[in-house]
Amino acid sequence: METTTEIKTRVYRFGNKKADGKSAMKNLLGGKGANLAEMSRIGIPVPPGFTITTEVCTEYNELGRKKVISLIKSEVEKAVQEIEETMGAKFGDDDDPLLLSVRSGARVSMPGMMDTVLNLGLNDDAVEGIVKKTGNERFAWDSYRRFIQMYGGVVMGMKPESKEDEDPFEEIIDNLKEKRHIKLDTDFTIQDLQDLVYDFKDVVKKKTGKNFPTDPWDQLWGAVMAVFDSWNGKRAQYYRKIHSYPADWGTAVNVQAMVFGNMGLDSGTGVCFTRDAGTGENVFNGEYLINAQGEDVVAGVRTPQQITRLGSERWAKLAQISEEDRKTDYPSLEELMPEIYQELDGYQKTLEDHYRDMQDMEFTIQQGKLWILQTRNGKRTGAAMVKITMDLLEEGVIDEKEALLRIDPAKLDELLHPVFDPNALLDAEIIAQGLPASPGAATGQIVFFAEEAKKYKNTILVRTETSPEDLEGMDLARGILTARGGMTSHAAVVARGMGKCCISGAGALKINYKKRTLTVDGKEFHDGDWISLNGSTGNIIEGKVATRQPELSGEFGELMDLSDKYTRMKVRTNADTPKDALVARNFGAQGIGLTRTEHMFFEVDRIKAMREMILATTVKGRKHALRELLPMQRSDFEGIFEAMQGLPVTIRLLDPPLHEFVPHQLATQKELAEDLHISLDAVKSKVAALEEFNPMLGHRGCRLGNTYPEITEMQTRAIIEAALNVKEKGIDVHPEIMVPLVGTVNEFVEQEKVIRETAEAIFARRKTKINYSVGTMIEIPRAALMADKIAEHADFFSFGTNDLTQMTYGYSRDDASKFLPIYLEKGILKEDPFEVMDQEGVGQLVLMGTERGRKSKPHLKVGICGEHGGEPSSVEFCHRAGMNYVSCSPFRVPIARVAAAQAAIMEEK
Ligand code: ADP
Ligand code: MG
Ligand code: MG
Repeated sequence: METTTEIKTRVYRFGNKKADGKSAMKNLLGGKGANLAEMSRIGIPVPPGFTITTEVCTEYNELGRKKVISLIKSEVEKAVQEIEETMGAKFGDDDDPLLLSVRSGARVSMPGMMDTVLNLGLNDDAVEGIVKKTGNERFAWDSYRRFIQMYGGVVMGMKPESKEDEDPFEEIIDNLKEKRHIKLDTDFTIQDLQDLVYDFKDVVKKKTGKNFPTDPWDQLWGAVMAVFDSWNGKRAQYYRKIHSYPADWGTAVNVQAMVFGNMGLDSGTGVCFTRDAGTGENVFNGEYLINAQGEDVVAGVRTPQQITRLGSERWAKLAQISEEDRKTDYPSLEELMPEIYQELDGYQKTLEDHYRDMQDMEFTIQQGKLWILQTRNGKRTGAAMVKITMDLLEEGVIDEKEALLRIDPAKLDELLHPVFDPNALLDAEIIAQGLPASPGAATGQIVFFAEEAKKYKNTILVRTETSPEDLEGMDLARGILTARGGMTSHAAVVARGMGKCCISGAGALKINYKKRTLTVDGKEFHDGDWISLNGSTGNIIEGKVATRQPELSGEFGELMDLSDKYTRMKVRTNADTPKDALVARNFGAQGIGLTRTEHMFFEVDRIKAMREMILATTVKGRKHALRELLPMQRSDFEGIFEAMQGLPVTIRLLDPPLHEFVPHQLATQKELAEDLHISLDAVKSKVAALEEFNPMLGHRGCRLGNTYPEITEMQTRAIIEAALNVKEKGIDVHPEIMVPLVGTVNEFVEQEKVIRETAEAIFARRKTKINYSVGTMIEIPRAALMADKIAEHADFFSFGTNDLTQMTYGYSRDDASKFLPIYLEKGILKEDPFEVMDQEGVGQLVLMGTERGRKSKPHLKVGICGEHGGEPSSVEFCHRAGMNYVSCSPFRVPIARVAAAQAAIMEEK
């Protein structure tokens, strides 16, 4: 493209089977403009017009209205003249006026941009010209009143600001309908329509103090500038921010000859899809209305009819309409206008072949002639995305690599969790919004205490926050809602692991445990009240919403197999129980990257022994309690090893601060004192002694094992003995023992010594051996710096990027919800670093740690086991970092598999 101002093209024409632009020019022409040009080139009938480029929008922001008009005036006038020649009508002429539509169009379709203005060019004289030319008085006046309504609304600012305010034009229409006792727009008489025009202009004058512009060129420039202005509108800005679209993209403006779907019974307008956007089924489908214009189809005033006969029959069945009534009252386009239908069917095939993807199209029929007004790659559900992609692959339209690259991995999530029935969501009452911490849909009755999770058949556990003690209750509840905590809060992490719907950090909720009430926005909910959570959007909904189980299709399995064909990294899972391990294996996990042993200690009989161990004042006392824990832990590991059938299993030694395990309520403290035959005061003082100012930086991780080696000893014994027992059953076992929170080489060396000595002693006693490895988590920045030294001893590294992020930023994970949302809103941070790996900062430590580690041990096995292991952009980073595997929660395994394949394919390119 030329850069000098003089010869830069600012206006690109299309129509008449030729065009200045093409579909590859989306950045310059916007999506809509680029595709209008492309359609024109390949012979699809689009009304002629032109696109003012996105660069002009940027110029407008710098130079203002006047200068920009002078920059493009002559090009626009020339382009309008060409439209006049093609259409045989003249813009601004009283006898034979050309009417235009003005449409916005950014690179990506964006809510918040200016709505389309149709029928531009009409005024009191031109409307008479249209009457004369068409002999259709009602059409002329209907178009005129629509124009004033649209132009007034989107260009002159007559649209109501808030949802409660009435649209002044709609108010006038409603009043007239009431007065005339009619329901439909189509029932208005010509006189009614003329009255509307008069009243509309009147209300414009009243509200804006301005006369409605009569000069067509004033109207055109007004509309063009309004499109540019809408780029900087509040809604558009907000949308750009949440999607990180830069402000200098700008929007294009499309100006195009009008074609009229409202000229009578031989005219109409509609939208259609080359495949089903909900299910992906390869059936042409869509809706249309006879004698209608623009958005009438989606506005929902009249019931639209189906395009195909098949679709029409399916629709009638759902709507319980008899075949007779369907045929007479709601015939399909295929039946009503068979020739037009054939033509449309031809275009939809052409367009899908041309774009090699499902298309979403808009069309208008003017007196028996078909025009296509828009095409684009259609939006689709996760299920449709998978089906359409795999079908296109099978049809030979795309190859395997392209198929993989077309999948949006994050969207696969939709397929794996229960989902709300889309119809039921339509009239859902949203009461508040939280973080979409774990996707899925949950409907149930409110309980405020984990112990009461079984109180009703379906419960939603509502807490200010959750703690490890709530684990069982969380497992029993349908969904979890917390007022505090971020995407890596306890509730969020645990829920994701369970594949359970969770909304966290819903700050607007006021929870009163005493009264068992949840108050939001002045509304009070009680124990037993029904609420619903949409874990994919963070919407909290009042009452019940119907859900359904997802079904995994054959195409889903094919996609997974295809991913594995191209992946270099392995995908493992984080799993603490045999149940989780099995779920993950069914999703294709190739091992366990993280088993957290502490979760095993929270069950009733175990927590007692655990507490006894913690409260013991002597090594002997601790060992006694540990002996009770040993068989339990050993059988847990046996279960996991069996579930994994020979795949590697990484087990992390005890990690959390001991304070999490001791009772904090008086009643349980008393119980414990009795159980252990010690005084209540002794319990109380121990609990107090365990309290820490910064538990995350306190007595946890390998600091526990290094102060109480007998814990490491017991856990090693449980792991090794379990492995031997399972091996005896003929199952291969590959335990990898992982030391958490290492910061110095000696911390690791000391632990490794305990582990190896314990293992060797068992081998000697049982006169048999297995292969096992001892490695460490890299989750303290110092460990990444010292990676070469640590790798001299460690068999493997696993990056614990939750803690690594926490410590690199110095953000407490459990307190970050106080400032992170504000940081994100202000743009101080682009993304929540606990959700999407901070490649720029934390990523350096990962790269450095990997590189330094492999310098001393070239074949060092490196993986990641933080929450990031299932986030697509982070997975891609891990691939580039040369990791051997990523590990993520079971329900994210399929996402990571596709993301890992995409990373490998992209690297080739
Ligand atoms: P959106 O981006 O919201 O879909 P469009 O610019 O596609 O907005 O316009 C909305 C509707 O207006 C189209 O679906 C079409 O029905 C109608 N429309 C736009 N341009 C024309 C035109 N030149 N002739 C007739 N109808 C048009
Ligand atoms: Mg459109
Ligand atoms: Mg950690």
